[in-house]
Amino acid sequence: MASGSGSKSLINSDLPAYTVRVSDRAKSVRLSLSVEAGLEVVIPVDYDRQKVPELVQTKRDWIIRNQLKLDQREAFFQSQAPHELPDSINLRSLGEEWQIEYRNSPTKSRAIAIQENKSELKLVVNGNIADVEACKFFLKQWLMQKAEKHLFSWLRKVSVRAKLPYRTTAVRSQKTLWGSCSGNRNISLNYKLLFLETNVVEYVLIHELCHTVHMNHSDKFWKLVSKFEPNYKTLDKSLSQAWQIIPAWLDF
Ligand SMILES: [Zn+2]
Repeated sequence: MASGSGSKSLINSDLPAYTVRVSDRAKSVRLSLSVEAGLEVVIPVDYDRQKVPELVQTKRDWIIRNQLKLDQREAFFQSQAPHELPDSINLRSLGEEWQIEYRNSPTKSRAIAIQENKSELKLVVNGNIADVEACKFFLKQWLMQKAEKHLFSWLRKVSVRAKLPYRTTAVRSQKTLWGSCSGNRNISLNYKLLFLETNVVEYVLIHELCHTVHMNHSDKFWKLVSKFEPNYKTLDKSLSQAWQIIPAWLDF
C-alpha cells in the first residue's frame, strides 16, 4: 500500500520525504533510497544544510528511477502468494534444498517446534500450524541460525585468504541490503544471502571486506575488488536482480 501512495506522489511531481544524516566519514554528499530508511541524504560535517533541498531537486531523476525500482519490487512480492507457507526452502549457497512437513499438534502457546533431519534435508514443523504467522516466525529463526553458522565462518575464510581483517560480524534481516560495513570495520550480512548462488555470496563477502579499506565506491575500491574477483561487474549485476529469487513469504 505504501508503495502505491509513493508512486502517486511522484506523478504529482513531488519527491518522497527525506531525512538528512551528518556523517564524519562522508567526503561528499550521497543519496540512498531503501525500504528500511526511505530517502536519506548523507552529508559531510562541514556541508551547508541549507543547500540540501536544492541538491535533492537536482537528483530528481535518480530518485524517481530508484523509487520506481522499489515499487516494482513490492509489486513482485505481492504477486508471489506471500501469505502461504512454503513446502520447501532452497538454500542455493549451501547446495541444500530442504523439504518441509507440517504436523498439526495444537497447543495453547504459539510455540512451534522445528525438527531438523539433516540426512534427508527435511524440516518438520510441529505445533499449531494453523497459526501461519507463528510458523513463518520460527522458520525465519531457523534460517537466521543457519545463516550465523555458515556466513560467519565463510566470511572468516574469505577474510583470511584476502588478508582483509574485520572486527565483528552480525547477521541481520533486511529487505533490500545484502550486506554493509561500518567505519569500525563491523560487517553485517543479510541472512537472505543463503538463498543466492555461491559465487554471488562470495562476491558480497569480498565487496564488504574491501569496504574495510575504502569506505566508498570509488575507483580505488573497485580496483581492490577486481583484484579478488575479476568478474565483479557481472556478479554485481546479478546481485541487483537476486531479490527475485528470495521467497516472498519471508517478508510478510
Ligand atoms: Zn558497497
